Amino acid sequence: MKQLADGVWHLNTMPLPNAVNAYLLEDVLVDAGTRQSRGKILRQLEGPDVSTHALTHAHPDHQGASHDVCQELCIPFWVSERDADAAENPELIRQRQPSHPMARFYIRIFMGPGHPVDRQLHDGDEVAGFKVIDVPGHSAGHVAFWRESDRVLVLGDVLNNMNIWTGIPSLHEPKPYLTPDPEENRRSIRKLVALDPELVLFGHGPALRNLPKLHEFAAAL
Ligand SMILES: [Zn+2]
Repeated sequence: MKQLADGVWHLNTMPLPNAVNAYLLEDVLVDAGTRQSRGKILRQLEGPDVSTHALTHAHPDHQGASHDVCQELCIPFWVSERDADAAENPELIRQRQPSHPMARFYIRIFMGPGHPVDRQLHDGDEVAGFKVIDVPGHSAGHVAFWRESDRVLVLGDVLNNMNIWTGIPSLHEPKPYLTPDPEENRRSIRKLVALDPELVLFGHGPALRNLPKLHEFAAAL
């Protein structure tokens, strides 16, 4: 794991670095890659204490190994109110994704089993010193985690910092065929950029400390 800020570490969940990220915020694992990620995540978590697993959103490349990790580490599973049912019953992920071959492909290849949610997260809740922020659009219950003291933002897939086909780092909106409500997601992008973060951590792509780039991207939407 690579430390990115005080109490914040990055985990790779796939062989290609930064392609599908997870983070350890203090002792809370945020996101769990694909169903192929179990071994890679558990190896990286052998040292630190992990008390909880939380999701930014219940999509196949974030909840893939959630069941295995929670079971193996005997830790509770925290998911936002509006994604909790999909995290427990992944059939709902399928129903809520746009009807597109790529969405079906992602589900078939990456999706993991459901897992009972122990706590539903709400806007304003605190998790490992971060505030939960509702940022729907890419999923109904997508949340971000925001720590105002040093302006660290974990924003899941509200924005990608990687071209998911070439692997080249650059800011993008998430693909519309994986985003049930792109307009709502744009509002969520603006809401997060208005926080003026200093370190942005993405579900896909490397961490970003170049804030003018972030503001230019949001202004051009
Ligand atoms: Zn994703």
